Amino acid sequence: MNGFEYLDKQLLELKKNGLYRQLREIESAQGPVANIQGKEYILFCSNNYLSIASNPAIILSCQKSLEKYGYGSGASRLVSGTMSPHLELESKFEQFFNKESATIFTSGWCANQAIITTIAQKGDLLLLDKLDHASIVDAAKESPAEFRTYRRDSISKLEKYLSSSEFNRKFIITESIFSMDGDFAKLAELVRLKEKYGALLILDEAHSIGCMGENGAGFAQEKGLLEKVDIIVATLSKAFGASGGVVAAPAIVKEFLVNRARGLIYTTAPSPVNSCAILAAMELIKNEPLRRQRLWDNANYLRKKITLAGFDTGSSESYVIPVIIKDDFKVVEISQKLFEKGLFVPAIRPPTVAPGQSRLRISLQADHTKEQLDFLCAALKSCF
Ligand code: PMP
Repeated sequence: MNGFEYLDKQLLELKKNGLYRQLREIESAQGPVANIQGKEYILFCSNNYLSIASNPAIILSCQKSLEKYGYGSGASRLVSGTMSPHLELESKFEQFFNKESATIFTSGWCANQAIITTIAQKGDLLLLDKLDHASIVDAAKESPAEFRTYRRDSISKLEKYLSSSEFNRKFIITESIFSMDGDFAKLAELVRLKEKYGALLILDEAHSIGCMGENGAGFAQEKGLLEKVDIIVATLSKAFGASGGVVAAPAIVKEFLVNRARGLIYTTAPSPVNSCAILAAMELIKNEPLRRQRLWDNANYLRKKITLAGFDTGSSESYVIPVIIKDDFKVVEISQKLFEKGLFVPAIRPPTVAPGQSRLRISLQADHTKEQLDFLCAALKSCF
């Protein structure tokens, strides 16, 4: 007896319902191929979209940083934790997004938490896409503002909320590429509505930063709408191949975050080494647009191929490609069969997606080869 036996029943329930989850050890760097239990697997689940997580330029930048700054930042940003690489990175992000300020956080989760619980205040209304990421939903629950959800395929509900005179300010918060469906926000429509009703627009570019737009600034840049988005939030753990989050916003927003955001004030600053990794990644992203091209070529190739093979890829328009299976047990069974063939394609089940929406979630990388994509398609077919 250790006092925690009460958890056992809940774990058993998860097992009974096919919803139990376990960690899996990766024994090598993240690439299109990685080692697991001494064997090579093709990864179709890493968000290292541009295949740069172990790029030599990033490793070199980290090595130099380690020699100069050591590893730990030693304190929170407001004490002695703000080091030169943090400031250099924030200044580079201001230029990258063409916004007055940029603020980095230890994770994308923290960035959403900071912005949504601090900038939105009592009497305000947060309007979330029904499928916004858990970091947005949890922050909205924690925020002093109220929140409601809308469906992006029926925007009239959003307009109804926007036209209500009940609240002080209204914030529309959306992802740009939705993490479980791989489809896009209707950004032009959201911009039109936010302008019509005087609302503010927060865009989470987690899955698009680095992979879209002329210099990789994301979906808003690609659509020519960067200027119209009030606040950009992004994670640096996916295409940037590092970790952390960033908020790009008017200068006054940064000033407020620095004074009020608990996720910045009460946590130790990120390692300066991480900032140097991101600085090197940003150069690769700006100067090597072919990586984006290869990623999109792979996405269009695979999506077409598996759709033609009769699989349901839902509303995917990007390199995040779900294969909708629906049944919680079946999806795990197929994921396991693929694993036995040397392919790591994760099974995504509730609560990450709605009940009845279980799926395989394929995420692609720039460095996946056509042979690897063909192999995946053939292996998928053989599972049915
Ligand atoms: N927003 C979205 C849309 C995400 O998909 C994620 C991560 N999966 C996050 C935020 C959180 O980012 P991080 O992993 O850096 O905490």
